[in-house]
This record gives sequence, C-alpha cells and structure tokens, in this order.
Amino acid sequence: MTLPALILLLASLAASPPTVEVVPATSLTIETVSAPEAPGLVGQETIAGKVRTGKSFTRQQKQVIKQKNAQENEGKTRCENCDIETVPAKKHEKGVTPPPNETQVDHKVPKSKGGAGEVENGQVLCRDCNLKKGNKEPSGEESP
Ligand SMILES: [Zn+2]
Repeated sequence: MTLPALILLLASLAASPPTVEVVPATSLTIETVSAPEAPGLVGQETIAGKVRTGKSFTRQQKQVIKQKNAQENEGKTRCENCDIETVPAKKHEKGVTPPPNETQVDHKVPKSKGGAGEVENGQVLCRDCNLKKGNKEPSGEESP
C-alpha cells in the first residue's frame, strides 16, 4: 500500500531537474537581442517600391484606384481632371469607338518620367482626358 507513495517520491525526484529549464531561459534573452534586425524588412519594402518604377498597374491595383475614386464620389467614378462621371470600360471591339467618358486608370506621373505602378500614382480619368494627356506623352496605349 505504500507503493503509490514511493512512486510519488520517485516522480518528485524525476521532476527535480527544473534547474535545466533555467538554461533555455537565457537563450530566450539572446533571441530578443536579435530582434533589432527586424527594421531591415522596411528596407526591403523600399526596394520593392523602386522595382515598380515605370511599371503598369496590375489589374488589382486598377481596381483599388477605381474603388478609392468611387468612395470619394458617392459610389460613382469621376474623371479627376474634368470631373465628368465615367462609365466602366467595355471590351474593346474593332470599329467600335468607346464612349469619351469611359473609365481609364492613368499614371499621375507618367511611366516614361519614372512614375511608379503604385496605387498612390494612379488616378481615374475619362477616355477623353487620357487621350489628350496621351497626346503629350508618346505612350500609344490607346491607339486605334
Ligand atoms: Zn475628363
């Protein structure tokens, strides 16, 4: 009947090396010391931003730029140059001229001048304004 008591004694002996657990505790403090390396990630983001210089917007970025514009105009997209309400672009067909107020996403700073393919550099223009602007810049993206 004293066997369980012996087992308890042995168990307490086995659990006696809590001193070992103290050692990893010091290694934890070493890990926190290495934490100041984290700001290096910010530098990587800046590098990524530079990579997008002169790039076109992705489909997703265009979507965000249009959504931002719509949020500022009660759900409607408006040309940021002439303030006309723009209509969503349809699939371009041969011989069909898109409406002059077709929604187009434009680079505020042109790609040719180092403008980045970033949402911050995007704006919604009507086709008319974008074409007029395009005449100054040899982009030719909307040539018939
Ligand atoms: Zn316009």
